[in-house]
Order: sequence, then C-alpha cells, then structure tokens
Amino acid sequence: MSFENLGLNEVLLRAVKDSGYENATEVQTLAIPPAIEGADLMVSSRTGSGKTASFILPALEKIIAARGDNTKRREKGKIYGPKVLVLAPTRELAMQVAKAAQTYGRHVQGLKVATVLGGMPYPLQIRQLTGPLDLLIATPGRLLDHLASGKCVLENVEMLVLDEADRMLDMGFIDDINTVAAATPATRQTVMYSATFAGHVGRLAQELLRDPQRIDV
Ligand code: AMP
Repeated sequence: MSFENLGLNEVLLRAVKDSGYENATEVQTLAIPPAIEGADLMVSSRTGSGKTASFILPALEKIIAARGDNTKRREKGKIYGPKVLVLAPTRELAMQVAKAAQTYGRHVQGLKVATVLGGMPYPLQIRQLTGPLDLLIATPGRLLDHLASGKCVLENVEMLVLDEADRMLDMGFIDDINTVAAATPATRQTVMYSATFAGHVGRLAQELLRDPQRIDV
C-alpha cells in the first residue's frame, strides 16, 4: 500500500520518499494506522519486514501531534523525560532503531532522540535524559540504572514499544521490563513486537497490554 494512505504527516512522508521506498510493507500497512489511533498491538514479523519503521513512524507521528498542543507549558529546569520509549534487547538493535528514528525523523524540526545503552559512558546519556527529549531508545538494564539514580523520568511516556520482546525475556530482562513499565503512566499505549507470543511473552503481553490487536505477518 502507498504510504500516503496510512495517516502520516507530510514531513514523515518526505523522509520515507528520501529513503526511496515505493510502498509500505505488509507490517507497516497493518500496524501504522492502528498505532497512530492509539491501539495496543502485539506484532509478529521478521527482521527485514520493515518492522522498525512500522513503530518508529507512528511514534514520530505522535511526537509531531503532541507538539501542536500548547496547553502543556514547560517549566524551565524540570526533567520531563521522553514521550515515546523504545526498549530493545541489545545495543546493536537499539542503535539500529536510533538510526531509523534519525532517518525517518530527519524533517521533524528539533526532534530530540536519545539512546541509553549498556557499556557506553554515563555523562552524555545523563545530559540527554535531563534535557528536552522526544524519543528514548534504551536497553533495559542501563535504563534501570538511570531510573534508580533519578536521572530518568518516565511519567510523560505516551507510547511504550517493546522490540524483540521474546529476546529480552530470553536474556532475563523480565523484572527490568516490569519495573520500567511501572514507571510509565498506566494510560500509555503499548506495542509489543515478538517472534512468538507463546509462554512467558504472552503472559507479559497480558500484563502490559490493554485490549490488544494482533498482527501476524
Ligand atoms: P527492518 O525489518 O525494520 O529491520 O527493516 C529492514 C530493511 O527494510 C531496512 O533496511 C529498511 O531500510 C528497509 N525498509 C523499511 N521499510 C521499507 C519499505 N517500505 N520499502 C522498502 N524497504 C524498506
């Protein structure tokens, strides 16, 4: 399907066009419209299917939409934290997601994307977390460190994305994910990507998602 019919802002369509994509992939066609509408999603799709754009584009759409809301005044010096949080199992995957966010968000003025990854120095991460921030991409362990030290605030998260949730659980991140999710508002939207939703991933989905739509491609 054409990207034009998915409900995306013109600045995002321009970035998609820059990438040379002719059409949205199946997972993008199925996931982008409900994600923009605010639905919780359980998505199974392979790497290479275009899944990263299927959650980053709606995430950016929400960030753009929230900017139009001038009723929320910002106090100087206060830490607000991100509007969208993406959790990924590994540094490599998180960096790939961050790269996609920069690519698809290239025409979004003043977009602030931060990455919080294990094995990287703390000072830059802290500076990014405590400044204006739209989108945070993190591995669970390091994010918990920042939460514990009060450098990260998640009370303004409107959308939580769990990428490769099955891998995160295989790596033993279940408690970390639950702690992070509990630090976000209960009213948030949650989208979960996983090769399978059997067993413990299904149970986590039941705990974190409300009335989710299932997308299997
Ligand atoms: P992913 O499944 O997110 O790892 O994406 C796999 C690759 O597909 C990435 O290199 C993307 O740049 C590319 N891609 C994403 N969406 C599209 C699209 N609609 N058309 C062609 N390529 C795409």
